[in-house]
Amino acid sequence: MVKVGVLGLQGAVREHIRSIEASGAEGVVVKKVEQLSELDGLILPGGESTTMRRLIDRYGFMEPLREFGGQGKPMFGTCAGLIMLAKDIVGYDEPHIGLMDITVERNSFGRQKESFEADLAVKGAADCYTAVFIRAPHIVSVGENTEVLAEYEGRIVAARDRHYLGCSFHPELTDDHRLTEYFVHMAEQAKLAHV
Ligand code: GLN
Repeated sequence: MVKVGVLGLQGAVREHIRSIEASGAEGVVVKKVEQLSELDGLILPGGESTTMRRLIDRYGFMEPLREFGGQGKPMFGTCAGLIMLAKDIVGYDEPHIGLMDITVERNSFGRQKESFEADLAVKGAADCYTAVFIRAPHIVSVGENTEVLAEYEGRIVAARDRHYLGCSFHPELTDDHRLTEYFVHMAEQAKLAHV
């Protein structure tokens, strides 16, 4: 069984653990840098990206997170976590963790649509998937090796760049665990490749 962590500094942590366990992996709430070494994959949850960034800096997570990705270990950013992973953020000079070859824009869906659900096709994971969006970012553009996995109203809302997976919505908030399963599978594949 693979171990998948959820960065537990801020945001929707417990729900991700529940989804990881429903997907047949062990879920670990990560609050200390030392815990990263035992993991096969890491989820960066939704929440608030500027607050998450502050806590990442305060607890010394920035370099260890970059090293984690640099070792080829899968990372999955959801909503604010997607913003943390992106190499470029519209309107910002610097990214946060900055590992995934995408450009994101924060709070893309307008005030009247602060939160909503939409049925999407997610390539490789689900033909019809109910996605929950909460003050969601979207992916403005992707690098040449990044695959678009889902779009909503012409905007990219899920993508994969090598061992980095990201989505605008909250896959942990429904009982449909297919996207988490997709990520657990990435962690299993990466573990096999590294043994
Ligand atoms: N709007 C938030 C941000 O920019 C993300 C919202 C979420 O994670 N649900 O950080």
